[in-house]
Amino acid sequence: MSSLLEVKDLVAGYQTRDVLKEIQLRVDEQMFIGILGPNGSGKSTFLQVLARSLKSTSGSVLLNGNELDTIPFKEFGKKVGYVPQENSIPFSYTVRDIVMMGRNPHIPRFRAPGSDDERAVNEALKLTGVCEFADRSITSLSGGERQRVLIARALAQQVDILLLDEPFAHIDLHHQYELISQIQNSVRGKKAVIGVFHDINLAAAYCDHLLLLSDGVVRAFGSPHDVLTTENLEEVFNINPYIGENPVTGAPFVFVMGEKRTEKANLEMIVLISGAGSGACLMTALKRSGYLVRCGVLSEQDTDFLVAKNLGLEVISEPPFSRISLEHEEELAVLISKADRVIVTSMPVGWGNYPNLKVLERMEIERVILYLPEPESHILDCTGGAATVLLNHLIERGACKAHTINEVVSLLEMGRGSDGDI
Ligand code: ADP
Ligand code: MG
Repeated sequence: MSSLLEVKDLVAGYQTRDVLKEIQLRVDEQMFIGILGPNGSGKSTFLQVLARSLKSTSGSVLLNGNELDTIPFKEFGKKVGYVPQENSIPFSYTVRDIVMMGRNPHIPRFRAPGSDDERAVNEALKLTGVCEFADRSITSLSGGERQRVLIARALAQQVDILLLDEPFAHIDLHHQYELISQIQNSVRGKKAVIGVFHDINLAAAYCDHLLLLSDGVVRAFGSPHDVLTTENLEEVFNINPYIGENPVTGAPFVFVMGEKRTEKANLEMIVLISGAGSGACLMTALKRSGYLVRCGVLSEQDTDFLVAKNLGLEVISEPPFSRISLEHEEELAVLISKADRVIVTSMPVGWGNYPNLKVLERMEIERVILYLPEPESHILDCTGGAATVLLNHLIERGACKAHTINEVVSLLEMGRGSDGDI
């Protein structure tokens, strides 16, 4: 059976040069594909070819097995709707008139719109939240409102494939959520949607497939988890990404930590002893600053463990709710003996992770930094006092204290920290 849409060896561009190079893609019913890529990578060019606004140089695009060029425009208009990136409409049509234009492919020549058309238009006006503007001129609307009208026009068209080029660029969060939910519903009703998205996290949360374009070439196509990898994002966007998981949707979550890093030689090695999320921001900041961070013993479900793993840090870990084993205590002691600095956070300490603090008794104190954010400035002692005794002993011996991440980084940069508080 032929796919809804099939793109084979597609090459396309403008007079001066080819932008898209040998693109392949199969689109089936119920796919919601998000196209991602840097500026100028060819995303809009690709949608223009699919919408027949731009002719390809070579290759083919098949809609239900038929070459696009062979399909009469009116027929095509019943199958494919397109919301372009630029939405300037110079003429003073009313909003209702613009949305009714979406019905043109369905209205026979020399006939007025029928009740089906009126119904489709009213529904689209409602779904996009523009009913109250229906009789106003499109030129009197804000950019975001105008964008919603153009989405309404495409919805009124009742097509099989919806092409959206950065549809939410000017749209507020509430309407963005409503529209993307509507679009997702229309996909469940057997349609397909191909959208260019600026916001990687929005695309990851809603699209079932992502297509990553880089310089006119498909760098990756697949599920958000398969496409949004460190390697892909580093290469395509030239960034140093943190890829976590959105706890609400289960989709990947991308945060840009900085520019793509080239590995530095002779990095200082820092061992971070933390837990319960008390070290997550710090380990991110240290990695961004180029330090080689290793994590002391963490429980495998701990927030710090998950963040460390997402950052690609080496971690000594124990299964949830187990005490640190003698073996791991020893491994940590060996790691600490090789570290340039050890940072201890204001983590909760119980008998299970007490050895994390105990091993520091054997360490040269000048290399220890206690990261104790205000206002508590102490660890959460769940050992009945033993952990506090250890911590106070570290302070008495002269461990450096820092209360903010910036203070920790300054201490590290100073080489050898001052004694006492920074
Ligand atoms: P994207 O949507 O990914 O930001 P585009 O598809 O709009 O990128 O553009 C891809 C490349 O084609 C860019 O280098 C852009 O400058 C060029 N380009 C876009 N439109 C035209 C045009 N009408 N004439 C010539 N070059 C164009
Ligand atoms: Mg574009």
